[in-house]
Amino acid sequence: MKLLEGRAAVVTGSAQGIGLAVATVLAGHGASVVVSDINAEGAEKAAADLEAQGHRALAVPCDVTDERAVGALADACRDAFGTLDVMVNNAGVTRDASMPKMTLEDFRTVIDVHLQGAWLGTRAAGRLMREQRRGSIINISSISGKAGNFGQTNYSAAKAGIVGLTKAAARELARHDIRVNAIQPGPIRTAMTAAMPPRVLEQMLANIPLGRIGEPEDVANAVLFLASDLAAFITGTVIEVAGGRHM
Ligand code: NAP
Repeated sequence: MKLLEGRAAVVTGSAQGIGLAVATVLAGHGASVVVSDINAEGAEKAAADLEAQGHRALAVPCDVTDERAVGALADACRDAFGTLDVMVNNAGVTRDASMPKMTLEDFRTVIDVHLQGAWLGTRAAGRLMREQRRGSIINISSISGKAGNFGQTNYSAAKAGIVGLTKAAARELARHDIRVNAIQPGPIRTAMTAAMPPRVLEQMLANIPLGRIGEPEDVANAVLFLASDLAAFITGTVIEVAGGRHM
């Protein structure tokens, strides 16, 4: 059964990692997908790979900190595929450091990409979805936003902020039949976790009841559920995809 036949989705930061898995899973369920990333070449390659697999895909480079570019990204999906049904605000960066070493620029960059980026994406998608009277917006938070991580005052603050944004936007948009939900992944096997010292990853693993690091597809499957009509009565929630870590 294909869950997203005839729907169109935008996934930010989808040239690689979790975003790429999300784009692939949504496309596999029949959605036309806009692959978007600050890495234009990576987005082009990912979209070309999806098309080669028989899916409908379009690459649209976009820096999620750029208000005009995010508005144009939503419009590009509607112009190419006639609709925007699913918006996944996924793009992310890390600038880890303990507070004495973290610069204001490190703090601002992470807040701008994650929190402001998700706000811009939610607002731009909400504008189009309101006209359609239908839509699902999914914001990728992190379990760090629930528990806080050493060396991530910027990232944990941004990811906790995304939860507040998600709930407030869910209240505002519900009357237009637009649902807004968040996902909090635990450690997932991507470039972001590959950059962590092995000792830190081992410590994380010891605290995951399901006994493994997550795969990008674990997050993508939760996005698929929230994007689909299976979640028609679910809004303003946070789903943890963390193997039980920090339950
Ligand atoms: P990733 O592999 O680093 O992918 C993130 C993508 O976002 C990259 O292609 C990156 O491009 C792009 N990006 C960075 N800044 C951008 C901007 N301003 N505008 C548009 N795109 C931008 O990371 P990931 O692990 O897949 O993470 C995806 C999301 O899941 C993030 O929001 C992250 O915080 C969240 N998450 C990840 C984990 C985990 O364990 N991996 C856990 C919890 C939550 P460049 O590579 O060119 O910078």
